[in-house]
Amino acid sequence: MEFDQALATWKEQIGEESVLCDRATLDRYARSTQPQGTQPRAILRPANTVEVCAIVQTAATYAVPIYPISRGRNWGYGDACAVTGGQVIVDLSRMNRILEINETLAYAVVEPGVTQGQLYEALKSTSLWMDVTGAGPETSILGNTLERGFGHTPYGDHYQMSAGYEVVLPDGRILTTGFGHYDEAKATYLYKAGVGPALDGLFTQSNLGIVTRMGVWLLPKPACMQGVVFSVADEAGIAPLVEALRELRLSGILQSTVHIGNDLRVISSGSQYPWTETNGKTPLPDPVREALCRQLNIGAWTGSGALYGTHHTVAAARAEIKRRLRGIAQVQFFDEALLELGRTVVKVGQPFGMFKQLGDRIAAAQSALDLLTGVPTTRYLKGAGWRSPNPVQDNNLDPLENGWGLFWLAPVLPMTGEAVLEVLDLVKPEFERYQFEPQITFSAINPRSLCGIITITYNKQNLVEAEQATRCYHALFDQLMQQGYIPYRVGTQSMQALAQGSQVFWDVAHQIKRSLDPDEILAPGRYSPLSVSAISTTPLTHS
Ligand code: ADP
Repeated sequence: MEFDQALATWKEQIGEESVLCDRATLDRYARSTQPQGTQPRAILRPANTVEVCAIVQTAATYAVPIYPISRGRNWGYGDACAVTGGQVIVDLSRMNRILEINETLAYAVVEPGVTQGQLYEALKSTSLWMDVTGAGPETSILGNTLERGFGHTPYGDHYQMSAGYEVVLPDGRILTTGFGHYDEAKATYLYKAGVGPALDGLFTQSNLGIVTRMGVWLLPKPACMQGVVFSVADEAGIAPLVEALRELRLSGILQSTVHIGNDLRVISSGSQYPWTETNGKTPLPDPVREALCRQLNIGAWTGSGALYGTHHTVAAARAEIKRRLRGIAQVQFFDEALLELGRTVVKVGQPFGMFKQLGDRIAAAQSALDLLTGVPTTRYLKGAGWRSPNPVQDNNLDPLENGWGLFWLAPVLPMTGEAVLEVLDLVKPEFERYQFEPQITFSAINPRSLCGIITITYNKQNLVEAEQATRCYHALFDQLMQQGYIPYRVGTQSMQALAQGSQVFWDVAHQIKRSLDPDEILAPGRYSPLSVSAISTTPLTHS
């Protein structure tokens, strides 16, 4: 009854066509890369902040839980699903205006629905680059920033590179962070902390407000840019590489985010599981894995980063990187000019069936260069379809549309060789036990720590495999937590597990939640392990 009244009010507030309850739409929003998603009760599609305020007030009046998403492509972490079933999804994708691009001060102001592809297009005619994630052009900038996601350039830490949030609170009031709450403030998007408590962090990885606007800092196009790839042949060779890269990052010689992926990560970004070579059997036999490495000419680990500056500073940094990595890793530099030259060579060889492998390597290097220069690419989504029984099509890499199964684990570790080896020792036996192939990346978004991204891909249509993947995920999650490798971000399935071994922090977070949202109307359970309603609501599931 209350719900019907809420629906009727929302229809008046945002228009009937923006309140969706039909079965097909609800099922679409309930799709998940996890074995089961949660079923929403309705979908609301507001057009502006005023409508968001009205939605929130109605939700409070009728005690109906709502869950905001920007583009709903939180693949591998819960997708567009709320933590529990029965919540009403507030889909902000219609709010997709780029409100400002300031070339002098190098920032943009965006609404939640603005995608990476959209901002990229808008920046083409400017002297600015954005920092992109590997999730492709259709994902939002704001959703990733609120999840504290990261990219590839020196602006890779998205939360640190954002400022001036406009937030609708659970009671319908609008709060602006930084200096934005002063009407005449001149530096809202330029000075993150403002004066007084820095509140913007409260609205990331939380359920305390709906963010309707955000300033995003942009990178002035440098006079010179070069990508760098480092590779090591043996698995243990990652330890000295990490030690050397830490020093290069700490000294400021290497300023970009650095990503180091294992062989399986590299292989899976270019091809799917070799069903023919393995006669349809899993897991991947070592000889097939080794043959794939030989074919692609890759070692156990391949890393990438980039140098940005003038010709003079890039040349100096390049020499220093070569010197410090001598005997530790093979180092190659590349840029647009080199790739263009390579493409010409491939073209010349084409009629004679030559240089096919070179062509593949150039395509891979181009995708890496794209990410390092703020061009969204879908190439790295391919890894999510690794275990798909159906052919993976380059023109459709959306994990939900393809029904791919995907879990991501994201432990943070000190940037030391010792910590990396310890995490690998912990991870590998579990993958062997549950019979999956570990795709692993370590990313230095700051000079002192690494974010591990450990991917479990599985065939969702095979229920036994899906069950094994779930067990593998939870076994790894618990072990990593116990060993002190706490994740930087979690999927909806692990919100409650965050309370393990931690008391005061989550108590205080819960006190803040209670004071801003006493009836837990907003996203109950999201990064809120002590949330009563999330624990007491039975998930309505959907496979
Ligand atoms: P994207 O589509 O860009 O990958 P999502 O829309 O899936 O990002 O956002 C990731 C998560 O962040 C969502 O599940 C939601 O919990 C939270 N979130 C997204 N947008 C907002 C917002 N505008 N306000 C508050 N929380 C949000």
